[in-house]
Amino acid sequence: MERVLVVENTRLFAHLLKKELETRYGHKVTLAASFAEAKEILSREASSFFAALLDLNLPDAPQGEIVDLVIGFGLPAIVFTGELSDELREKMLEKRVIDYVLKESASSIGYVSGLVDRISRNRAIKVLVVDDSKSARSMLTQLLRIHQFQVLEAESGVEALSLLEQQPGIRLVLTDYNMPEMDGFELTRRIRQKYDKNQMAVIGVSSYGNNVLSARFIKHGANDFINKPFLTEEFYVRVTQNIEIIEFIQTLQETSVRDYLTGLHNRRYFMEMAEKLHAAARRGSMKLAFGLLDVDFFKKVNDQYGHEAGDEVLRRIALILREHVRQGDLAARLGGEEFCLMLVNTSQAGAVILFERLRTAIANEGIEYKDQTLRVTASIGVSCDPGESLNLMMDQADQRLYAAKHGGRNKVVFEGE
Ligand code: GH3
Ligand code: MG
Ligand code: MG
Repeated sequence: MERVLVVENTRLFAHLLKKELETRYGHKVTLAASFAEAKEILSREASSFFAALLDLNLPDAPQGEIVDLVIGFGLPAIVFTGELSDELREKMLEKRVIDYVLKESASSIGYVSGLVDRISRNRAIKVLVVDDSKSARSMLTQLLRIHQFQVLEAESGVEALSLLEQQPGIRLVLTDYNMPEMDGFELTRRIRQKYDKNQMAVIGVSSYGNNVLSARFIKHGANDFINKPFLTEEFYVRVTQNIEIIEFIQTLQETSVRDYLTGLHNRRYFMEMAEKLHAAARRGSMKLAFGLLDVDFFKKVNDQYGHEAGDEVLRRIALILREHVRQGDLAARLGGEEFCLMLVNTSQAGAVILFERLRTAIANEGIEYKDQTLRVTASIGVSCDPGESLNLMMDQADQRLYAAKHGGRNKVVFEGE
């Protein structure tokens, strides 16, 4: 379900769109130049598309017939028009299209491509709608579903709180103010005791058109508010903005704990987590095995093939590392060509087997770079004794790594000083 259908008879416009969607966002595009062609494609493979971009004015369907066709297949649609009028806006919203965009310049191509990508990502985002009125709930739910969110509903604050417990990963809560037992303020306050503003957005919805109420929603911890009645467009702008802020903060948090080259965790994150594991090991509640890995003669790779080739080698080693750890283990790039693994609840015998396998996997890997195949080996020092501190444990592994280098490299050493 990863394709976008573009129905557009202006070739240039269609190709510009395709290019932007494919190169910038990595979405595959299928082009259709007429109503008939679109119909044929949809009857064959409608389920392989997650969205459609439609020209309202096609030579064989000048009245926007394409919209009904596509919506009939259950596909979310974004519409291009040559002119915008209030009448057209009403008509399109009624048909539940995602958006209608004036076909004019390069900027509309950028806008639409961004929107398609947004819709694609919305499919993985859970939103909770809380309102005691069924009709109010279903109005919001419908709007959210058009934008492809996964929507959950609760008819009271109590139900909302229990849904949040049961369903991890809800990113946005839309809550009414006026509800029996627990009002929207109280619900927001309770949500904030557990989830902060950067991990879950709350938007207060008030039917009073009352500015004081809106401001008080924010004071109780909401990220934003919407006054009813609202324009559909305003609703979507607010929802999208709040989701994007949360995504942005999440990306920032992710990048601060990851190494940009390999995507593995970085030294800072590793040390923080390893300290926690080490404390637990000292209390005797778990076994730890720490392995320090250094690529052999890595400088030569850079000297002989260039720095980019060296980077590719590091990325590949990171992939191999990932394939060798279980969930709960820690893998990180400590810096340069030095990596480490902290295995949780693995015996010394188990650790020896795993690190030996890892060494072999690296040595056997052919790394394609341009038209050459590079090969590298790595040396590994292992410590299974937590000792007095994490630093001492890491030092012991470092000394064994040194021994592995001196013993001829491409070796695992897990004994001795
Ligand atoms: P040994 O077998 O003794 O470990 O030899 P070595 O050549 O691997 O070790 P040395 O410490 O002399 O060289 C490491 C090299 O790694 C030097 C440095 O330029 C290179 N390096 C460090 N970080 C990066 C990186 O991010 N990308 C690339 N391509 N090279 C890096
Ligand atoms: Mg090295
Ligand atoms: Mg080194």
